[in-house]
Amino acid sequence: MRIAVLKERAPGETRVAATPETVKKFLALGAGVAVEEGAGAAASITDAAYREAGADVVPGPQAVEEADIVLGIQAPDVMALAGARPGAMVAALFDPFARGDRVQAYADAGFEALSMEFMPRITRAQSMDVLSSQSNLAGYKAVLAAANVYGRAFPMMMTAAGTVQAAKVFVMGVGVAGLQAIATAKRLGAQVSATDVRSATKEQILSLGAKPIFVENVAGIEGEGSGGYATEMSEEYKAAQAELVSGHIAKQDIVITTALIPGRPAPRLISDEQIASMKAGSVIFDLAVAQGGNVEGAAADDVVERHGVKIVGYSNTAGHLAADASALFARNHYNFLSAFWDKEAGKPVLDEEIGNAVRLTQGGRIVNERLGSA
Ligand code: NAD
Repeated sequence: MRIAVLKERAPGETRVAATPETVKKFLALGAGVAVEEGAGAAASITDAAYREAGADVVPGPQAVEEADIVLGIQAPDVMALAGARPGAMVAALFDPFARGDRVQAYADAGFEALSMEFMPRITRAQSMDVLSSQSNLAGYKAVLAAANVYGRAFPMMMTAAGTVQAAKVFVMGVGVAGLQAIATAKRLGAQVSATDVRSATKEQILSLGAKPIFVENVAGIEGEGSGGYATEMSEEYKAAQAELVSGHIAKQDIVITTALIPGRPAPRLISDEQIASMKAGSVIFDLAVAQGGNVEGAAADDVVERHGVKIVGYSNTAGHLAADASALFARNHYNFLSAFWDKEAGKPVLDEEIGNAVRLTQGGRIVNERLGSA
């Protein structure tokens, strides 16, 4: 059983799918691990560290040769997998709704594509969930990035020269990233408020010491769909939310938006008109910018200034914390494959619940229900 870890090819990708720690753990399961030269460089992991852990560190084509499992952050193009065993498993982010072409290429090449973003949100799979591990870091980094371009301080400071007021931070979307954004802004001393379409988040916001901002008295606003994710909201709800947010947003210094709906473009939460109502010098960080953006005018990896408000967003926020993001992603991969490791077969044998959720392609076909082809 050979596991290959390739250097990420996607522009701006700094993370790596295995660390010396997980290499050792895979070796302990009886697998061999080959790592492409330089794979960990952007995450501050040297080739020597992988070698010390017991990996073969070799050029890319050699790393993938005879591989039974390929681990990635973002799925490589099938061309990079030439030489892997027929039917090899490839576990990575596939962006399956947007990249149907890649899913089809994997099916045509006969690989078993395992989409880490399709990991079910069940207790048993929490330790395998890359969306959570990466969103948590992204929520933290979003607040730091916003603080960095904000020309004022976050905490209230009473000095001999006078008082500096605490920054007002508003977090929109209270999933994993939003919760960490609230906690981080609180730690920095800001006055924090937050909103979500899922009413279950109200209590979580309060438990972090922040103020919930919620639309009340609109029919059908539960907002929670399958797997704890948000659903698309009614027009009536959207109008009520826009009104409430408009009033609140005008008084904020920093807004962090994190709202996503699986399989759809990110919902638009902040219009140009709302941006214009904010004070000059305010900052918005759009964590959903790579999925279409929550904020009008946001551009990935750029600071856009509109009406004196700076709008920031990264295409790969977790990638700005490459070492920690890699360490957690690599553990997610290990927790996933080792949970299903069949000692006799010497390889992972996925069960139905998790296997069917994450498997996109097998035996030359697209086999995932969410892609409408099972
Ligand atoms: P996400 O990244 O899909 O979305 C971010 C947040 O944006 C969500 O809270 C969503 O409700 C919110 N949102 C969507 N549209 C919005 C709008 N128009 N206005 C305001 N907010 C909007 O969410 P996530 O971080 O992946 O978390 C989704 C759920 O899954 C949460 O309930 C989380 O606790 C749960 N979860 C469970 C597990 C597990 O049990 N294994 C693991 C991780 C997350």
